[in-house]
Amino acid sequence: MMSGLLMARGKTGNIKPGKKHILKDFDVGKDSFGNEYIENFKRNEISTEFVGQTEDAATGAASIIVNSEGENVIVIVPGANLLVDSEDLKRAADVICKAKVIVCQLEITPATSLEALKMAHASGVKTLFNPAPAQADLHPQFYTLSDILCCNETEAEILTGLPVGNPEDAGKVGSLLLERGCKLVIVTLGAEGCVMISKEDPIPKHVPAGKVKAMDTTGAGDSFVGALAFYLAYYPNLSMEEMIRKSNFIASVSVQAPGTQSSYPYRKDLPQDLF
Ligand code: ADP
Repeated sequence: MMSGLLMARGKTGNIKPGKKHILKDFDVGKDSFGNEYIENFKRNEISTEFVGQTEDAATGAASIIVNSEGENVIVIVPGANLLVDSEDLKRAADVICKAKVIVCQLEITPATSLEALKMAHASGVKTLFNPAPAQADLHPQFYTLSDILCCNETEAEILTGLPVGNPEDAGKVGSLLLERGCKLVIVTLGAEGCVMISKEDPIPKHVPAGKVKAMDTTGAGDSFVGALAFYLAYYPNLSMEEMIRKSNFIASVSVQAPGTQSSYPYRKDLPQDLF
């Protein structure tokens, strides 16, 4: 059972180096899952200033089945996450507009996610958009407001209608997504790492991940996106390829442990040359 992805995929800002100090802006329910989320945030020194607890819906949750290859099937049951709205964004506006990076995705209503991207973009905040869960009819502004769009193979297929089974296919969908207006596209490919393509350098580049024995790949994409957000915020002078290489490494550590949040490594347990 998760509670994992909803927590791992919030809107993120305000990361302090050395600390897991990420601002999350979403609602949880007034139930035991909601209480556990908040406790877990606190234990990990994550600000809960903008986390609301509502009686109007249950905490969003998901059931996850993992096979012997470490791959998963996820059934998401949304709840309080769908109640995050413009008012919540207004309350957090100051923090959103002063962040170095914002991560948005689609586990809150797309309209709210789009509004957050607009606010951040207008203030020059770097925008990292993860279209998960993917929708075929995404509002076109999601692309023009994304400095970086990062999706997995399935999401890339849903967005473009093109099949993605290898780095070459990923390059093709990346190119198509660039045409829709984002500056840089990353398509993650599980054990194959990912492919990046940008307006500046429109030749797709495959950045492989190291070979590891996967135990549970649930949340690998979130681990990758979270690591990338960290590097964008704290090591902005690294090349994008280097950031992606490091993020691949961190995500590949997460697939070697069970669970979603519980599989994410702490900075102190990672090789220090990553920092
Ligand atoms: P999602 O979890 O969204 O489906 P992916 O499966 O594409 O995302 O994984 C995201 C990233 O996690 C990959 O780009 C890679 O860095 C890492 N990763 C995932 N699976 C493996 C694996 N089996 N071996 C090594 N790295 C992996």
